[in-house]
Amino acid sequence: MAVVHRLFRLFSPFTPAKNNLSSFLIRSLSSSSPHGPSLDPEIDLKEAAAELEKSSSPSSSPSPSKGRNFHWVFLGCPGVGKGTYASRLSTLLGVPHIATGDLVREELSSSGLLSSQLKELVNHGKLVPDEFIISLLSKRLEAGKEKGESGYILDGFPRTVTQAEILEGVINVDLVINLKLKEEALLAKCLGRRICSECGANYNVACIDIKGGDGDDRMYMPPLLPPPKCESKLITRADDTEEVVKERLRVYNKMTQPVEEFYRKRGKLLEFELPGGIPQSWPKLLRALHLEDDKQSAIA
Ligand code: ADP
Repeated sequence: MAVVHRLFRLFSPFTPAKNNLSSFLIRSLSSSSPHGPSLDPEIDLKEAAAELEKSSSPSSSPSPSKGRNFHWVFLGCPGVGKGTYASRLSTLLGVPHIATGDLVREELSSSGLLSSQLKELVNHGKLVPDEFIISLLSKRLEAGKEKGESGYILDGFPRTVTQAEILEGVINVDLVINLKLKEEALLAKCLGRRICSECGANYNVACIDIKGGDGDDRMYMPPLLPPPKCESKLITRADDTEEVVKERLRVYNKMTQPVEEFYRKRGKLLEFELPGGIPQSWPKLLRALHLEDDKQSAIA
């Protein structure tokens, strides 16, 4: 657990090392660099990678998990629906869906200096430092290993080439699904997203109707409205404002699009253009993944 201790020291508000992180966060926020946060040499990425390797190695105890040993990754712009389809596949395949965005939001809900500094990054549409995200993911994988999890569907990781290189060094990713959606739908989907503060379910109040033309089909995505039990408990993510979504899209194009190329070169990338809402897209995605046989147990 060396790196956890080290990161704890680095991120603890009671140690001088916090100044490294504070200045890193301030630099990241004030940086106009299109390349996003640069690495602070004081934070040891190698150790974070070693911790990830440890948490990714197979458990020595017999696995009680019925899940299959998939190591899949979902890529795609903010609002594309990574969470929706990763979560459906996770149910279908019996492997956990691990979304680094959720891990970050859990961390942000705690109080403290680190949390408020990270909030500044996230709420401005910036990425959090590679070391931090790798440490969060390591802890999640370690906890999963103890429960006997043997595979996972990652959503939102890797998001930089550095993260992809580190992941490739510790696990053989089988498949990377790159979800794509017309750009004009992405902003509307983020702005329409609503979350039930009680059960965490995701809904969308946007009604997207993009006319066809030039060989393109019309795209219609009806709203996904909450059931009465969630209606009064809906919240909006703090980073789902127009300005921040535009920044997240810009950051995606700069920092994460190269990750698509990283996996394309390795023959692991499956491009999947979403044809519309869940009823049209889900069966097509299952066909693209040759999972039609598993369809019986899929949620429609
Ligand atoms: P999105 O809807 O933009 O795909 P996520 O819910 O996946 O958003 O992530 C929310 C925020 O959490 C990101 O904007 C970023 O600040 C942070 N984050 C999540 N995953 C990563 C990662 N792999 N690397 C760096 N930052 C991340």
